[in-house]
Amino acid sequence: MKFLDEYRDGNAAQKYAHEIARITTRPWTLMEVCGGQTHAIVKFGIDELLPAQITLLHGPGCPVCVTPVELIDKALELAAKPGVIFCSFGDMLRVPGSKTDLLAIKAEGGNVRIVYSPMDALKVAEQNPEKEIVFFAVGFETTAPTTAMAAYQASQRGLRNFSLLVSHVLVPPAIEAILSAPDRRVQGFLAAGHVCTVMGFEEYLPIAEKYRVPIVVTGFEPLDILQGILMCIQQLETGRAEVENQYSRSVRQEGNRPAQQLIRQVFRVAPRKWRGVGEIPRSGLALAEAYAAFDAERKFGLAEIHVDEPSECQSGLVLQGKLKPTRCPAFGTRCTPEHPLGATMVSSEGACAAYYRYRREPAPA
Ligand code: SF4
Repeated sequence: MKFLDEYRDGNAAQKYAHEIARITTRPWTLMEVCGGQTHAIVKFGIDELLPAQITLLHGPGCPVCVTPVELIDKALELAAKPGVIFCSFGDMLRVPGSKTDLLAIKAEGGNVRIVYSPMDALKVAEQNPEKEIVFFAVGFETTAPTTAMAAYQASQRGLRNFSLLVSHVLVPPAIEAILSAPDRRVQGFLAAGHVCTVMGFEEYLPIAEKYRVPIVVTGFEPLDILQGILMCIQQLETGRAEVENQYSRSVRQEGNRPAQQLIRQVFRVAPRKWRGVGEIPRSGLALAEAYAAFDAERKFGLAEIHVDEPSECQSGLVLQGKLKPTRCPAFGTRCTPEHPLGATMVSSEGACAAYYRYRREPAPA
């Protein structure tokens, strides 16, 4: 197949669904890791094509959603500083901190700019030498190489007015945290194809073996996801627990070695707090000592803070696949994309946003 439409072909989707139903003999619970996959599942009704014995749980694969409140509050503090141009992906602007969000800071006069890449932020730094430019580096392994490249280029060009507020997280430790939970329900994983395009899937081999769980690297189009589910169910039904690659048009086992090398050069692995989930050891990236000059937290002397998550928002349970968004009492009433209580309602990859957009009950006439 060459074109996007072919990966959305309804007849082919029905064939996959029939084959999944044919081989399924008992209940199985799978989790898709990535928020992009969650949106495709909800948008195209993929879960509704599956036999009732198969349950899909939505995982923590939305980097915007798992950015902790403390870091959002630090972003707000930096964005409100005179002389700072705060650059961010657009998704982050509506994510609530403990009191407000970046959009409100911008409305109040903060110099907040939406950029599409950290390299755009670097350009802003070169064009505004009298200002301090901070880029909010949020993302999984997928976007870490471009952040690393921005830090590397800033270093090479001797830019002193550029820094990074880093919130990069790593997928394999989150999968392990879910598999180690005493109330674990997940029996098979669809791993995120774009993360594995960068990192490969060698890291997943010991996880599949240790927890006896199939992991299928999967793409994002409906037929990708259905094929990934089929491969996962085939393994479960035959008692196998292996790592397989559905997304072979993009992913190689070893991944993109130059990108990995750049990540290793600029970052070190660090513990990271995940919003709603808590701290997961070795699950984040922080700037390596050689790049400490580009660490916005150090540069601006931001103090460590602890902020309680808003008690009404249950996004921690949503992110662990323990609660369907529509079961949250605030869903669609006190929490909407216009007035979000949690990041999962804001982000384009958030599960609550997906259900709000595609699965909302129509308002009574
Ligand atoms: S619907 Fe809103 S309040 Fe409920 S979990 Fe999702 S983001 Fe949080």
